[in-house]
Amino acid sequence: MSQRPYNFAPGPATLPQEVLEQAAAEMLDWRGTGTSVMEMSHRGKAFLSIHEQAIADLRELLAVPPNYRILFMQGGALAENAILAMNLSRGGPVDYVVTGSWSAKSQKEGRKYADVQVAASNEADGHTTIPHPSGWKLRANAAYLHLCSNETVNGVEFHELPDLKALGSDAPLVIDFSSHAASRPVDWSRVAMAYGGAQKNVGPAGLTIVIVREDLLGHALPICPSAFDYKIVADNDSMYNTPPAYAIYVSGLVFQWLKRFEYQGAHGVAGIERRNIEKAKLLYGCLDASAGFYANRVAADCRSRMNVPFYLPDERLYAPFLAGAEERGLLALKGHKSVGGLRASIYNAMPLEGVQALVAYLQDFARSHG
Ligand SMILES: *Cc1c(COP(=O)(O)O)cnc(C)c1O
Repeated sequence: MSQRPYNFAPGPATLPQEVLEQAAAEMLDWRGTGTSVMEMSHRGKAFLSIHEQAIADLRELLAVPPNYRILFMQGGALAENAILAMNLSRGGPVDYVVTGSWSAKSQKEGRKYADVQVAASNEADGHTTIPHPSGWKLRANAAYLHLCSNETVNGVEFHELPDLKALGSDAPLVIDFSSHAASRPVDWSRVAMAYGGAQKNVGPAGLTIVIVREDLLGHALPICPSAFDYKIVADNDSMYNTPPAYAIYVSGLVFQWLKRFEYQGAHGVAGIERRNIEKAKLLYGCLDASAGFYANRVAADCRSRMNVPFYLPDERLYAPFLAGAEERGLLALKGHKSVGGLRASIYNAMPLEGVQALVAYLQDFARSHG
């Protein structure tokens, strides 16, 4: 296949070309079954093997401890905001840290089911910093503390998750890791539950990944729909109702690709993290070296490796910038409508060459318009 354009979309987002080619090759006949994965019974031997392999591979890639369950659900991260509150809050006090538009939505949804307190917020500085955990207002009896570990719109990422125990809190930490899942390891000694929509960094839309510590299961509010009760989903191995079968299959191919991935002698998630660090360094380095032509407003210690929002010095430059980018095969660089500007999402599947091509364009554009 010829070189495709580089797609910097925030989600649904670019997938590894190898994965798309394999899915295409297996589209009509998955391994001699005579059927597409889309056409199989989700309870048949063929699909069960795909499902189990995907869960085992994800467990291996993220080093998920044995006392955590991996659930494959539906509804996306937005539905999960409600589902997690119904499952974990017990209707009582819960704390949220707001660092951008996604965590702001999470706490708002939580209010329908629980007594929500915002423990810390970076709203006053336009979502560009992470308030230091030592200043968070943690309630002793909170059923959980929620944060978004990578804010896709604002480009703010936790490079270290808080150690709540060290802060004197026993609350389980719940993270929305939608837009950087599998881009770096997860410190499970600090995280009780992680969830995310697959369509940012893992696979196609339709699959929601929930990784939850076993002792948190079994406390859903009576109003929680059965299909969204973590205990019921876990007891049925994510097969209580029909799972998003094709999205699971393609995500499974991505997990296999990640397991094969090697970069500078590092493998799997360690390898992809190393390349992600290099890509981010290259892009931020270019923005910072532009003498104020390009501006990323996020504090240096919490800049996202995945989502890089930036601005031009003049509103009139956006249209020619985006047109010129598209001409060079650099797609979907428009910023989120709530914050404007530009945004490059450089997820796992974006090769280093894609970021190099973007940087070359950024330099040319600044030279001809600066
Ligand atoms: C995209 C995104 C969401 C919303 O995901 P849906 O699958 O559309 O519900 C929530 N949180 C984060 C961090 C996201 O990037």
